[in-house]
Amino acid sequence: MTDTRMAGGRKIVVLAHCMLNQNTKPDRRARFAGAVQPVLDVLAEEGLGIFQLPCPEIGFAGPWRFSQVIQQYDTPRYRDHCRNLAVGTVDQLEHCLRPMDEGEDYRVAVVGVEGSPSCGITKVGRSTAWRGFPGAVAFDGRYPVGDGMGIFMREFHREIERRQLRTPPVFGLGLDIPDLDVATLAAEFRSRLRAVFGEPTP
Ligand code: SF4
Repeated sequence: MTDTRMAGGRKIVVLAHCMLNQNTKPDRRARFAGAVQPVLDVLAEEGLGIFQLPCPEIGFAGPWRFSQVIQQYDTPRYRDHCRNLAVGTVDQLEHCLRPMDEGEDYRVAVVGVEGSPSCGITKVGRSTAWRGFPGAVAFDGRYPVGDGMGIFMREFHREIERRQLRTPPVFGLGLDIPDLDVATLAAEFRSRLRAVFGEPTP
């Protein structure tokens, strides 16, 4: 029997947890009932493997937490928590990120959630005035976003660097940015994936 993994080029997308399970989102922040369907559809159509990252916030603050910004999460205990998760995660991914013999390399991309203080890639929740939804009147209920990388993503990349592994391409989808246009999500995701992996293997 032919090993179709080799034919497909061993392409793996490392996804922030909540793209496959919106039940880990903070209060009032889930956009979909289960998985983020456009993301799931595109991954299946492009023939890509999926590795689901852990959700750092659900284990730390539980399912009923309010949205917090990076100033609220950037504490020694939360950084430790993210570092521990990152070590266990990279243990599972190390074989995909080591330089291998020519022609045997896995191809990996990491996809985060822009706007998340934990899983953002270039955008995180950022404000010194935000107190979560009960005190959010001054924000008109809109979660504040600014530049930066989320704490879990930072620790995850530090662990990859610490082990001197290959740094995978990384990008985020704006699922934690208030004015995201969900209708354009699938097209944007497909185009970002093709920039990394090229056209799907027939
Ligand atoms: S963005 Fe990260 S921390 Fe936030 S719900 Fe998703 S997986 Fe959890």
